[in-house]
Amino acid sequence: MEWKIPLADVDIGAEEREAVDQVLASGWLTMGSITQEFEAEFAQHLGVKHAIAVTNGTAALHLACLAAGLQPGDEVILPAFTFVATAAAVRYAGAIPVFADIQGEKDFNVSPASIERHITPKTRAILVVHYGGYACDMPAIMQIAKKHGLVVLEDAAHAVGAQLQGRSLGAWGLVGSFSFFSNKNLTTGEGGMLVCEDDGVADLLRSLRSHGMTTLTWDRHRGHAWSYDVTNLGYNYRIDEIRSAIGRVQLAKLDSNNELRRSLTTYYRQLFEQAVPELTIPFSAHPGLSACHILPILLPQGVNRKAFMDAMKADGIQTSIHYPPIHHFLEYKQLETAYPRSLENTESIAARQVTLPLYPALRPSDIEVVVEAVRSAVQNI
Ligand SMILES: *Cc1c(COP(=O)(O)O)cnc(C)c1O
Repeated sequence: MEWKIPLADVDIGAEEREAVDQVLASGWLTMGSITQEFEAEFAQHLGVKHAIAVTNGTAALHLACLAAGLQPGDEVILPAFTFVATAAAVRYAGAIPVFADIQGEKDFNVSPASIERHITPKTRAILVVHYGGYACDMPAIMQIAKKHGLVVLEDAAHAVGAQLQGRSLGAWGLVGSFSFFSNKNLTTGEGGMLVCEDDGVADLLRSLRSHGMTTLTWDRHRGHAWSYDVTNLGYNYRIDEIRSAIGRVQLAKLDSNNELRRSLTTYYRQLFEQAVPELTIPFSAHPGLSACHILPILLPQGVNRKAFMDAMKADGIQTSIHYPPIHHFLEYKQLETAYPRSLENTESIAARQVTLPLYPALRPSDIEVVVEAVRSAVQNI
């Protein structure tokens, strides 16, 4: 289907093509010097010590869970209102995902009070997700973690370039993970990144990324090593030079593109306040600097969401849902039965949430069209 206004769009141009051409001409395609530069620039941009590039955001989450030392039977508290990969990564490490509720209609992030209610003697870690690029209440969550001796991990897939109290999201916990999937704020097609401060954790992540080997093909190519040992059960989660080259160009554009997303989000809010005051747009006046990854809205009670999305589609406007909550999926229903659940906010909000188009090249006139379509759909359904 040809959308008049799509949900998302990439910002890829001549610079990315040029960067890819240079890699192809160089003859060295897999993880090497371009990846090292991408990592160094990413770390500097976020103000963190270490950045480790990987093949995708899910692999990043998997390695973050391993770095947290999760063992089979350990419990990890996370929101159910996230992409399924957040919970899958916990299970790859053999641990058990335990779902906490979200804050409410104004803030779709995990609730610190609900996190605390789900802590048991088996709890080992808290895995937060900065929904839409808006910061979780990290000061409160770090305090809970400290009190109970828990590790904090951050799924910052939506939050590249976002901050709270001047500190990058992804840089609050032991390890932060990012995704560079095609619809994310910084894309390499497929790709991901881990960030951390601790030297030992960084060494472990680098080792796990590449088969647990002590040297890389790149080191041997440069004559720095001739053999290797294997010291961990590692994976092949490497990124390649082609993607890293795209990532460097994308990183240079990140701040200006995030700024565009923020001003477009502000324009949406202004228009909705006038045109559809009964609509809730979460995260208004939210603390910190958001990456404004998506534009979530909450339909008023009683508006049929499917009919709403169909009406938008009839107007050529693509919408989506972020997210069907994980505990509703067949694969997860059976898994979680042992745990008492009270995810009232998640249930009520997940049933009414819709995501509207947002990307840097979206024009104010497009937003006017979307807002009018929303107004008319909400009124007529
Ligand atoms: C995109 C995303 C992921 C997974 O990243 P991939 O690069 O697609 O593997 C994980 N968590 C959240 C919240 C995401 O949005």
